[in-house]
Amino acid sequence: MITTADFHSGLRPVPVARDTLHYRRSATEALRELAEARAVAELLELSHAMWCGPVCASTSGCGYLHYPRREPPPGIPRSRRSPYNKDTADLFFLMGGGGYAAGTAKTHERDLWPVLREAAAQADAGEGARIDYTDWGRKNDTTAADIAMYTCRDTLQWAANWCGERYADQPAFLHYVGVSTVCDDLCIPPLDLVQGRFRMYGRTVGDIISALDDQGWGHDAVHALLALVRQYLFQYAEKLDFVSGRERSSMHSRLNDSAGVWDAVIYHTYSGNPYGCLLGVARLWDAGPCSNTWLTDAAICDGISMDLCKSAMGIYQLDLYQPTADEHRAQQRQTAYQSVYLDLIDDLVASGAPDALVHYAHAGFLFVQTQERYHERRIGHRIPLRPALTAHLSNIFGDEPVDPFVEQRFQAQRTSRTPLVATAFPTGPTGLGTSAARLTAHEPRLH
Ligand SMILES: [Zn+2]
Repeated sequence: MITTADFHSGLRPVPVARDTLHYRRSATEALRELAEARAVAELLELSHAMWCGPVCASTSGCGYLHYPRREPPPGIPRSRRSPYNKDTADLFFLMGGGGYAAGTAKTHERDLWPVLREAAAQADAGEGARIDYTDWGRKNDTTAADIAMYTCRDTLQWAANWCGERYADQPAFLHYVGVSTVCDDLCIPPLDLVQGRFRMYGRTVGDIISALDDQGWGHDAVHALLALVRQYLFQYAEKLDFVSGRERSSMHSRLNDSAGVWDAVIYHTYSGNPYGCLLGVARLWDAGPCSNTWLTDAAICDGISMDLCKSAMGIYQLDLYQPTADEHRAQQRQTAYQSVYLDLIDDLVASGAPDALVHYAHAGFLFVQTQERYHERRIGHRIPLRPALTAHLSNIFGDEPVDPFVEQRFQAQRTSRTPLVATAFPTGPTGLGTSAARLTAHEPRLH
């Protein structure tokens, strides 16, 4: 029997994710095995084997790097239908205003295995030295400590937008979201994560995973760990691929070179890790057990609802890796991208997904507007922390965001070269927040 005290201490015996992993031991033991990897390629294969087991042929049917989706069967709705839906979408000027297109494909066209294996081989050949501990936030931060601190501010605000006043009930969940956010803005080698060389506010990923094990996460913690490792591999791959001055990422150009958006949707979902973060949110709300379709669909929608709102505010247009970008099919891909969202958000409700998951799925409409992170991207610098947030950060995370080792590597990269990533020129769908005058003023630079 679950007591109220158990509930609030996070001791939840009910898992959220289905027990589908090949790996049978604890997350702490899984991390110990992953830390044995001596190369990025080995880490990719080890983490994959824990997820799928030896029977997986490593093709586009592999559920670790891909998402072979099965439409969920109808159920009894447990949540109200989202007001922004298939029947209302054409009223709004989101993602270029294309509205809803029925029959948008949700199947892979590309195999992500060669893409990830190629990136791992590059990393193992020493190319990581170019990007390790470089700044990708594009907010003029001068220290790695600031980058880590601001990503933890973002973490608290996301958690509040996902969970309301209970956002800080489980500090280990917040520590997990923090380490899952920082790799977007600071390039962290995946081996430094699993081997404990990277610490955030003094905590290694081992400390965080061990806390999840102590709180009874069971195989949910293994899901969370493997999703985090996958995220670090995806993040590292796209940063390795980036070459300053090249107009488009070659890797994302390959993924986007079709009418379908599913490959790009899944890449963005796995590189952002909303799946891992959702496990904590769903556990907090005792939403389990949930099907893989519910969890992954809600994770996908969390990312797309963010991009839909970003498109309206002129922030999506600044992103380096737009899942819709393509020289010839941008408009078609923008419509397909929002249509994937509209299909999945309706499926979540119609199949009876818990309300916590449905809320998470359209939370992008809330957090993009209310969090400094997104406005800072547009203005290109930080909005100073308010005293209340500084106090929360100190209580929940600590006072030293990164170790001297990380700061030294960051400063060495900073002084040895011009910034890898310049502020991007706005391209992509025109949204309400992007005044035509602002875009026109920059237009001559295009030619
Ligand atoms: Zn597999």
